[in-house]
Amino acid sequence: MKFSFKILLCSIMIMAAAFGIGGYFFINYVFETSLDREIEQAMNESSILRFAFETAALNIPSKYAVLQDSTIREIGLNLENSGEGRLLRISDEDRVMVYESEGFAEGEELLSKIQEQTRAYQVIEQNGSYYIQTGTLLNAMDRILYLETMKDVTAVFEERAQGFSVYRRLTLIMLFSCSVAMFFISSWLTRPIRQLTRAAREMTRGDYSYRAEQISQDEMGQLTRDFNRMAGALEENIHKLEREVRAREDFIAAFSHELKTPLTAIIGYADLLRSRKLDEEQHFLSANYIYTEGKRLETMSLRLLDIIVTKRYELDARMFDAAVLFDYLRDMYAEREDIRLICEYQESRVRGEADLLKTVLLNLVDNAYKASEPGSRVEVHGERTGEGYLFSVRDYGAGIPQEEQEKITEAFYMVDKSRSRSRNGAELGLALCTEILKLHGSALQIESRVGEGSCFRFLLPWEEVKDSEQKAD
Ligand code: ADP
Repeated sequence: MKFSFKILLCSIMIMAAAFGIGGYFFINYVFETSLDREIEQAMNESSILRFAFETAALNIPSKYAVLQDSTIREIGLNLENSGEGRLLRISDEDRVMVYESEGFAEGEELLSKIQEQTRAYQVIEQNGSYYIQTGTLLNAMDRILYLETMKDVTAVFEERAQGFSVYRRLTLIMLFSCSVAMFFISSWLTRPIRQLTRAAREMTRGDYSYRAEQISQDEMGQLTRDFNRMAGALEENIHKLEREVRAREDFIAAFSHELKTPLTAIIGYADLLRSRKLDEEQHFLSANYIYTEGKRLETMSLRLLDIIVTKRYELDARMFDAAVLFDYLRDMYAEREDIRLICEYQESRVRGEADLLKTVLLNLVDNAYKASEPGSRVEVHGERTGEGYLFSVRDYGAGIPQEEQEKITEAFYMVDKSRSRSRNGAELGLALCTEILKLHGSALQIESRVGEGSCFRFLLPWEEVKDSEQKAD
């Protein structure tokens, strides 16, 4: 059953109970008040009749010293006729009836309750009509008599029955109109829930960008806001996962492709060597192809291993002299005379793991060399800035097209295929650099123009070294 219908049903039940109980007590209260008033009137009337009887008994000339039964009957008749619809009964000291109006109720229940100085009453039903029967003791000429009266109060009971019937109809009308109002109220109140359900359904169908409309500022509005926020986080995570899955697929595809080329060459040349007799030069060329492609595969597998290890590596960062890195580069490229390596740096201590940072710089300088023509130069700079110690590796070589710059840090990405192949690149160097810098909380910034050269930069935290001075090479 729908939530709004549950609200509606509960409200109808509560309203029905409230109207029913409330109405019952209200009508009964009105009835009791009217009946009390009638009882009061009946008792007053009884007192008046008693007084009238006693006065009449005194005024009637009598031959005897005691009041005769016939006189009592005479007075009783007079009293009955003096009021419209008046019913009375007079009994003697032995509670034996002396005078009784026609239609007076049978039974002596009330009579037995009347004591000296007391008045009694009861509500009785007779032939479908209701009466208040009162009883009182009266004293006339030394005789103790019992005077009973009957007052018709059927109208009060009829009023109550009528009140109930009108109220029943009124309750039905009120219930119906309240139900209609409650129907709209409950469906208005549950609108945010419907919105959330719809959003959840749309998201289950795969539309992660769907958001529930926030209708109010109350708790439901807060829930909608939180739901949308959760949906946003979920969407972001799913997109991230999708990107990762796609990157992994791309990686596997590229990896298989990268394996295929050297393997085809190795198999081809090995087959050539074993199936034909080649002259010395051809023999050397074939063996050399197998060697260089094998080397390339070896580099590739080592780099891949490095990346995987780096991803799970816990950095052992320490402060060390930046000069260590520049000295290392200088040593590595000391024998290259075709392209000049210029190291220019400000002395400082930087935070990181020196061996890993050497790998980064080595890769960057290696790439710069590969991109440069003989006679050119490669510059490596170290500069203290407000944001950190800035390393930069600049070359004046081929440059990288703008649209390629974002992709070159991906594994197996190569801008100039012929260049890379001929120089035994594994297309994993920058991917490894990115991973290492990520470990250091840094990132690689690339600035490049085709034909003008490239500059790769990254920042590290630094600390002043006493008597610092700029060294030039
Ligand atoms: P590789 O081992 O093949 O050098 P990298 O990941 O280091 O692989 O580089 C990826 C690609 O980025 C290279 O194949 C090259 O196309 C391009 N690249 C990197 N550095 C430079 C540079 N300084 N100038 C021009 N192209 C570059």
